[in-house]
Amino acid sequence: ATDVDSPNLIGAVDQGTSSTRFLIFNASTAEVVTYHQTEVRHILPKEGWVEEDPVEILESVKVCIEKATENLVGLGFKTTDIKALGITNQRETTIVWDRTTGKPLYNAIVWLDMRTASTVQSLIRKTPGEDKDYLRGLCGLPITTYFSAVKLRWLLDNSEVVRKAAEDGRCMFGTVDSWLVWNLTGATDGGQHVTDVTNASRTMLMNLSTLSWDDQLCSFFGIQKNVLPLIKSSSEIYGKMALTSLKGVKISGILGDQQAALVGQSCFKVGQAKNTYGTGCFLLYNTGFNLVESKSGLLTTVAYQLGRNKPAVYALEGAIAIAGAGVQWLRDNLGIISSSAEVETLASEVDSTHGCYFVPAFSGLFCPYWQNDARGIICGLTQFTNKKHIARAALEAVCFQTKELLDAMYKDSGLELTSLRVDGGMTSNSLLMQIQADILGISVVRPAMTESTALGAAIAAGSAEGVGVWRLEQEVSSIGTSDVFEPTISLQERIDRLARWKEAVQRSMHWET
Ligand code: ADP
Repeated sequence: ATDVDSPNLIGAVDQGTSSTRFLIFNASTAEVVTYHQTEVRHILPKEGWVEEDPVEILESVKVCIEKATENLVGLGFKTTDIKALGITNQRETTIVWDRTTGKPLYNAIVWLDMRTASTVQSLIRKTPGEDKDYLRGLCGLPITTYFSAVKLRWLLDNSEVVRKAAEDGRCMFGTVDSWLVWNLTGATDGGQHVTDVTNASRTMLMNLSTLSWDDQLCSFFGIQKNVLPLIKSSSEIYGKMALTSLKGVKISGILGDQQAALVGQSCFKVGQAKNTYGTGCFLLYNTGFNLVESKSGLLTTVAYQLGRNKPAVYALEGAIAIAGAGVQWLRDNLGIISSSAEVETLASEVDSTHGCYFVPAFSGLFCPYWQNDARGIICGLTQFTNKKHIARAALEAVCFQTKELLDAMYKDSGLELTSLRVDGGMTSNSLLMQIQADILGISVVRPAMTESTALGAAIAAGSAEGVGVWRLEQEVSSIGTSDVFEPTISLQERIDRLARWKEAVQRSMHWET
């Protein structure tokens, strides 16, 4: 067959907190040809600790690639139709491994993990005025348990194995993208130790203006640069696949999952925003070439840099730790539903929570509060309250938290959204989308294609120099709007419920002593 009849397909690894997926897109239509997905196990060794096994993460990626590729062949395509592969990943999750053996030195510490609370305290104490925002000017982020440098500091302080490996020059650090690319390009046999600007912007070690590891930040955290990967753009050829049936295929796109969703939703213009509802919930707002420093508890982050010689585009971000994870908690810890999707049926059996509020501050509170010592509460209970009200309150919590992000975004940027574009696993829940529209008072737009995250990685990979099968200018037509949810409650009701929510939030604060 000639190139003319060989379809241009692009693979996208989406390594999320709850699951791994491999999707294969047709570059000319932006449609998903086939995919495979597997869940990823959370390891909870202690209260507040959340780990994953780096080897299991890698194996899940390989399995998804093999299964999806088998599907592809079953559909009459050839594996050689796949022209390139992109990677998008759960961000901040921290992995350290041994340069000589290629083995992890510790489990992956997941972004949600709270073990670094005392590390955070001692780092804040080092700053003039004990200011958690001291480093914001350099890296756009507050000092909290969330970001990778804090987790890496903890590992160096608390794991003898990691400390020794660092001393011997054997320790390699990476976010999940780095771990995957290093392994997929050959590991100890020529693996590339790289990351992209979006993932690097979540470590607290990268200077947002220069897009390189910053001396001041590295010395603040006491981290040697020789453990860090090379920072690359989000769209360029990093290396070739050394394993799986896709051996030889170029890896040419890396984006943190939230940034990938922004690209996948075609939010390329200043002022465009999207909200992704997965394990957590993340609102990103494109601020163009401008670095906007938040005064309202949002994060400043790199949105994307699509090519080595292209400028970086920045975003303001609102991050919520617990969204879908709250639903998983109802399923796994309370056992009141047997699948995440069931929460919709249960919650729709009542028309309100009857004054019940659920603040799922399991990992403290992220934006805009940044309270490590907040803990989850369910309040407003009466003898009348049942599991249906609690299920509904868990959904409402996601919507109230999003409302607070939009309010912070308005304070920082003056931008008032007239509609909100959404995506992610939770958005299949139409009740959630309706409650969201009610609480925001604006329309909520759910595209037909909610796999924006994987699509973003495919766009980055397919449009890279030397691949060039995806034209960036080409509007992603397959996204198409499928559903618009309009607000149905009165302004007064919206104000009253938000006020009650904020009261509940106050009660969740400073619980952990
Ligand atoms: P991630 O990318 O963080 O792994 P996904 O986008 O795959 O997350 O979404 C999975 C999350 O969405 C899980 O936390 C799950 O509980 C939640 N979820 C999935 N379907 C539904 C649903 N119908 N209603 C509510 N929550 C859901």
